[in-house]
Order: sequence, then structure tokens, then C-alpha cells
Amino acid sequence: MQKKGFTTTILHADLELNPEHGALHQAVHHSVAYGYPDATDLAGIFQGTVQGYAYSRQSNPTLNALEKKITKMENGLSSLVFATGMSAIATPFSSLLRAGDHIISSSFLFGNTSSLLYTLIDLGIEISFVDATDVQNVADALQENTRMVFVETIANPVTQVSHLDAIGVFCQTHNLLYVVDNTMTSPYLFQPETVHASLIINSLTKYISGHGNVLGGSITDTGLYDWTQYPNINDSYKKFAPNIWGITQIKKKGLRDMGASLSSDSAHRIAIGAETLALRMQRCCHNAQKLAAFFSQHPKINKVYYPGNPDHPQHTRAKTLFRHFGAIMCIVLQDDIDCFAFLNALELVIASTNLGDTRTLAIPVAHTIYYEMGAQRRKEMGIPDTMIRLSIGIEDIDDLLHDFQQALE
Ligand SMILES: *Cc1c(COP(=O)(O)O)cnc(C)c1O
Repeated sequence: MQKKGFTTTILHADLELNPEHGALHQAVHHSVAYGYPDATDLAGIFQGTVQGYAYSRQSNPTLNALEKKITKMENGLSSLVFATGMSAIATPFSSLLRAGDHIISSSFLFGNTSSLLYTLIDLGIEISFVDATDVQNVADALQENTRMVFVETIANPVTQVSHLDAIGVFCQTHNLLYVVDNTMTSPYLFQPETVHASLIINSLTKYISGHGNVLGGSITDTGLYDWTQYPNINDSYKKFAPNIWGITQIKKKGLRDMGASLSSDSAHRIAIGAETLALRMQRCCHNAQKLAAFFSQHPKINKVYYPGNPDHPQHTRAKTLFRHFGAIMCIVLQDDIDCFAFLNALELVIASTNLGDTRTLAIPVAHTIYYEMGAQRRKEMGIPDTMIRLSIGIEDIDDLLHDFQQALE
């Protein structure tokens, strides 16, 4: 049979699970527990020898339907869903690392992920932060006890693109777990499986659900990593087939024990949003490309960071790896412009912290998401007070252009 396209696959995924009564969507199941006429089935579920559901903290049919959809989107082997993107990110670290292990992480990270990694350092994990736009920096940080490399696809706010393909080859050569946060690109723009990622993280809160009305996160095992080579797998999970050792340990130690489970209502909302992921991405990336061109020639804008601009340091890489250049950009206003006056002059664009919404959102970086780190660290990171991050939405482009034009005037 011909392999279906991205959107067709998502739209028809629930039907493969035969929802009750001919429903076109998987039902929203609210039962916490599942009962069995033959108690040996219940025991089998606990022991992993029988397929089924026991308790919703680990799984239920609604969550499972979403997991299957995400697995298809990422061309992976299996997925798990979580209450938030952050709980999905925390889990591979908390369930697969031991005190004394070392990881190599991109230094350009989502702020809360960066904060989380500093917590891991306090718990006894060694971390090297490197400029992951060049694989050489990753290679230079390799140690005997290195277990994992962690990167984001496009970093926020300055839009650096990690050396995704070369790091994939490096991790393969050195048998390292390669964990990629794909939130900024979403599986429509980029499938990290193509660069040999081992685990893929998505904040479902952003593009995948897409409307800023639900929190969620996911982990996908691509099936490309050989878990028999990983030293930290508990013996009790080694009785299963080796290709599910990793996801089993993440599920038991990370999801079951930590308990950051997604609600079924949220899973349903995410699944509905995901149906239009490709359509929304096409539109917001198109809008972003037009706006980046507009900002680049505007005399009141000092700098534009957008991978779609030919002068972006990783433009060629982004063009090779991604279907479009994304919808996140960063602009730096001229020094004498008050960024709050500019933001307040916008009539359509909303001052708000989220990204990946259908609406265009703007946030002054130094005063909000990078406030906590202080002026000195911001200076080192090249974050001026007049920097504004934009998450471009799906509005009509003429309305967006008009709004930015009038606000800059
Ligand atoms: C938002 C975001 C997260 C965290 O996701 P939540 O669902 O808000 O917890 C993680 N990584 C990236 C790149 C993000 O943009």
C-alpha cells in the first residue's frame, strides 16, 4: 500500500484503533482503573505479558491513541505522553541517568530546561554545556562517563540551529543516547529520526496542539538506539525485547513513579489540534518568512534572527534539514527605541509568553524569560534590552505587516 502523507496519516490514525460505535475520534476515557473478569489478565498486565490497561497514571485508551499518533508523526517505534513538555524533558534524565554520569548539552536552551539541568548538577550529574551549532564542540566534551547528548533543533530566542546531522553520526559512533527537543520545528518541519536521534521530545503545548489551550509533552523512542549497550537499565526490564528496554524504564521510573500524567481531556484536545499541524505550520512559516524580509529592510530594526534569512549563520543547514524555516524569530530594535512603547503600540500582536499559538505573540526577552539570570549573564549571551521574540501566528499577512509597520512608526 502507498505510504500516506503526513496529514492523512494523522486524520485516520484513530480509526485504526476501531473506536466504539463507529466514532471518528478515540473516546475521552475518564476511568482511572480497569477491571478484568479473569484476574490472571490483571496480573499479566502488571507483569508485562498481557496488553491492556490497569491504572491511568501509566496509560489509558485515550492517551494511547495520542501516543500512537505522535509515533506516526515522528516515524518512531513508540511514544509516551506527559502532563507538560517540561515533565517529558525531565524524564529521560531522571530515569536513565545515575549520579556520576556525564551529559553533553547545547548551551542554547529553553530557559526552564537550562534551570532543570542545573538541578541535575546539584543531584550529582556532570554536565558540559557546549555551542552545539558545531559538532566539534560536542566531540571535545566527550568523557569516559558520557551517556547522553541533548540538543534543541532551533534554539530560542536567538534561533541557533544545532549541528543535528553531524551530532547524530557522532552519537552513533560513540554509542551515546541522542536526545532531541523537536518542539520548535515540530515533526512536520523535521523528523529527528532522520538524523539518528534516539529519543525525541515534543512540548505538545506548542505547535502540535497549536491553539494555546492545553499543556502536554511527549517522548518518542525512534528505535535506533541499541539499549543493550546502555549501562543503566534495571535488570527487571531486561526480560522484555531489548528495543523496548529504554521506553519501559522511562515509563516505569519516569511516568509511573513521578506521576506527571496527561489528562484524557487534554489528550483529546491535543489530538484535535494535531490534525491541522501541517496546515498551520505552512501558514505561520510563510508569514514568518515575509515578516523577516520586512524587518530586515526596516531602518528601526537593528538585527533580525531568523533561520530563513540568507545571512543567518545556519541558513544552509536549516534549508537542508527542515521543510520550512519555522515561525520563531527575534528582532532587536534600535537602541533608542523603548521596547515597551513598541509593544504597547501593537494593536493586533499580543504581548504574551507562549509560542506556537495560532495568534502572533511578542515578548521582551531581557525583561521576562531571561530576567532571572541577571544583566551580566544576558550581556555574555548577547541579549540586549531591546530584543523581542516573536512567535508568528496564522493571521492574514497583510494585517501583521500593517500592525508592525504602524507600531514602528
Ligand atoms: C515550551 C517549551 C518547553 C516546555 O514545554 P511546556 O509544555 O511548557 O512544559 C520545552 N522545550 C521547548 C523548546 C519549549 O519551547
